[in-house]
Amino acid sequence: MAEFDYDLFVIGAGSGGVRASRIAASHGARVAVAEEFRVGGTCVIRGCVPKKLLVYASQFAEELHDTAKLGWTFGEKTFDWAALRDFVASDVDRLERAYTSTLANNKVEHFAARATVTGPNSVALSDGRTITAKYILIAVGAWPVMPAFPGNEHAITSNEVFHLPTLPRRVVVQGAGYIALEFAGIFNALGCEVTVVNRSDKILRGYEEAMTERLLKITAERGIQYRLGHPITGIEKHADGSMTVSLSGADPIEADCVLVATGRKPKTDGLGLETAGITLGANGEVPVDAYNATACPSIYAVGDVTDRVQLTPVAIREGHAFADTVFGGAPRTIAYDHIPSAVFSQPPLAGVGLTEAQARAEGREIKVFTSDFRPMKNMFFARAERGFYKLIVDAASDKVIGVHMIGPDSPEILQAVAIAVKAGLTKADFDATVALHPSMAEELVLMR
Ligand code: NDP
Repeated sequence: MAEFDYDLFVIGAGSGGVRASRIAASHGARVAVAEEFRVGGTCVIRGCVPKKLLVYASQFAEELHDTAKLGWTFGEKTFDWAALRDFVASDVDRLERAYTSTLANNKVEHFAARATVTGPNSVALSDGRTITAKYILIAVGAWPVMPAFPGNEHAITSNEVFHLPTLPRRVVVQGAGYIALEFAGIFNALGCEVTVVNRSDKILRGYEEAMTERLLKITAERGIQYRLGHPITGIEKHADGSMTVSLSGADPIEADCVLVATGRKPKTDGLGLETAGITLGANGEVPVDAYNATACPSIYAVGDVTDRVQLTPVAIREGHAFADTVFGGAPRTIAYDHIPSAVFSQPPLAGVGLTEAQARAEGREIKVFTSDFRPMKNMFFARAERGFYKLIVDAASDKVIGVHMIGPDSPEILQAVAIAVKAGLTKADFDATVALHPSMAEELVLMR
């Protein structure tokens, strides 16, 4: 009889947990996974995927407006939030079924229960069962942070925003990070009055400033109002459901919905890791080494719960590397340099490698190339909005060490150019590449 019930017990069936389960099982391990909510995790259930569908849907407002010039005539255009919301929900159901089948097809046992750690090799399920495993993987993700202020119970987070009963007329978004700016763009495109408030006077702090300044300009022209440096101090809800949002150092704002997106914290409260001798970090994260190992030799952790890089593709790679290391006989780590990222704001921005400020802070000699251009589509439809691309080049080696872009389709373009940056290609290699015309991406090889 086996010493343990399973070789691997995974807590959390999100991006990292599902990949680790599937790969460990393919290496011959007996695997089980516990999920207290829905299979798929943040990205699939209340993050990347449903968000992208909302971005896509909201952009039709502009597309439909443009079609009039192109000879298309439609009947009266109306927008039905409930129809969109329910379609998004049905797509989430579809993906959850796909993820659940992936687990079953790989012979991973799925427990629809909350699991807590009770020791180095044991977990307790919320249905009362106790299970033992040779290894335990913590992949429980992160959870939105709600700052403390009076009336914060009237605000929603990105968990609830997908389920709004009606489309609010006036939305206040607190925060100026990924989630805040993506939803500000969605609500603005759908015709809501949007105000973004943030504690600092910056948006997307840490991103290439030339891009964030351009985003601020374009979105302000599109009607988003900004109150930067004036965080929320309180929310008062009225009998008709409307709210008065008080700000520090600025006039209050009337709103019908307040979305708070002020970062996400590892979801480790009550997880029982102390029973295995694991001390959490300052933000509640599970400290791990490069191989995703915790201080307890039988317990590993991957994804947002480790608070390294909160991005789905990173969690997936960490989960895969963990499974190969522990069950595949091929110990490996993942590279955290050159991780491309994008903000699906409207317009979107994307980047890989060092920003100009980071390169200068490292004391590097750099050359900076920029292209400030009007995308052809904007020209056709007499829109003044301009795209902006920036290359950071290491002067000594001529290697392109950073690419940053804002403009239509920039995430799609950036993924391809990230290969060139990861491969260490030089500015001369970019220059030697023939432009593909007419495209926006051709700007990347035309900067002189
Ligand atoms: P971010 O870390 O991107 O932004 C947090 C924002 O909230 C900042 O503007 C910050 O202000 C502000 N803030 C932080 N703490 C407080 C506080 N206590 N009180 C008031 N304001 C505060 O967080 P998000 O919630 O937008 O997203 C979480 C993570 O999810 C991201 O870091 C990203 O990794 C991931 N994500 C990725 C997406 C993508 O890849 N497209 C999409 C959505 C999420 P300031 O910094 O100005 O002081």
